[in-house]
Amino acid sequence: MPASGDESSPFGSKDSTMGRFSSLSSKNRRSLIDATRHQIISKRFPRVVFMELFVTARCNLHCPYCFVRNKRDRDMSWETATSALDYFLRECGQAQHLTILFFGGEPMLRMDFIKEFVPYALDRVGQTGKSLSFDMTTNGTLLDVDSARFFARYKIKYLLSIDGLKEDHDRYRSFSDGSGSWDLIVNLLPMLKRYQPWQGARMTPSPESSSRIVDGVKVLYERGINQFIIGSAHGMHWPPESIRAYFEQMQALSDLYIDMKLENKPFRLTIFERGNLEEEADKYMNMWGCGAGRGRLCVNFDGTLYGCSKLMTITGDNTGLLPLGSLQEGWTNALNRSVLNDASLRYRIKCRDCKLGNECVGGCPAINWEETGHVLMCGPYHRAFTALYQKLGDYFYNRWIEKTGKPPPQ
Ligand code: SF4
Ligand code: SF4
Repeated sequence: MPASGDESSPFGSKDSTMGRFSSLSSKNRRSLIDATRHQIISKRFPRVVFMELFVTARCNLHCPYCFVRNKRDRDMSWETATSALDYFLRECGQAQHLTILFFGGEPMLRMDFIKEFVPYALDRVGQTGKSLSFDMTTNGTLLDVDSARFFARYKIKYLLSIDGLKEDHDRYRSFSDGSGSWDLIVNLLPMLKRYQPWQGARMTPSPESSSRIVDGVKVLYERGINQFIIGSAHGMHWPPESIRAYFEQMQALSDLYIDMKLENKPFRLTIFERGNLEEEADKYMNMWGCGAGRGRLCVNFDGTLYGCSKLMTITGDNTGLLPLGSLQEGWTNALNRSVLNDASLRYRIKCRDCKLGNECVGGCPAINWEETGHVLMCGPYHRAFTALYQKLGDYFYNRWIEKTGKPPPQ
């Protein structure tokens, strides 16, 4: 076996390798370093199967709890989007099915761009023998017959952001003149259901609306929403009485959900089920962390790479949390990607003895940062809601058994 540094080594002698390296131009040296670093990182981390495209930093609403803190007049160019697609195809390895999420800002402000990009991307990915689907989260205010038809044609699943009752939705989800957006969206629902019969909504209860969540769900169900993804607003102060009200409402919702399921109604509450419209992060349930920087990647309008859009935008300045690199240079920050991929308690000192550890998977790193200034250290908001969901899970499990005589389906 030749010793390393020996002329007969398959790696060449150290001197000759260094000699060849230093004879390269600085530009070629740089590309060689980038390519090697990229290869090492690609081998070490999971394949990317879910890509968020941050197509615009603009939005037509002004919701104070939106985690996109740095709304600006910036859009993703065609060149960036097509390079992102090429990058995705390189990074997905053997994965057969890929998903792109259009995100922003309000992605529908880029409807012309989306209309051009979708057929292009389907064709490009189709040539590789893989399949591609699209998701989108939208505030719904720009939907019309033309866009609904387009989404139906290309099977683009969109999730509407609606916060329950009109008064609760309009309190925060308003246009720049202060007027609310509830009427506009709800009036569109009959038309939307003709093109996408199953309608999903993301509901974000705030401390003010925490005692009216059930009413909000019922009203929206009557108007045509079938599936609800409910997550409390963060970045706001939650007094104990609002957390209590939220818990009571979620208990009542779990009863409603069980009754609706037993009656075979077209109704889903994602919190009581496995799987949702952004299922990637779920793959990593029961291990520490989330999908960000593992199977999930977010491309900013300028081609910089992050684990997800929340990590990218929550800081409100030009640099988000744990940047991973750029389309031009690839994965340049292996340390940040390691932090996102670390499934151990090595850096999570507080978690080691935490009694919530059996249920918790470490919290959202972006929300952790917002609360404590540290991505791997949770704060009181996360602890309160983790304990709440733990109790809610027990409540739901027992109620399901009481009503059906058997455990809920997994
Ligand atoms: S609640 Fe906080 S300290 Fe406890 S396990 Fe979860 S992240 Fe760790
Ligand atoms: S960092 Fe937070 S928002 Fe981003 S994927 Fe993880 S849990 Fe979700």
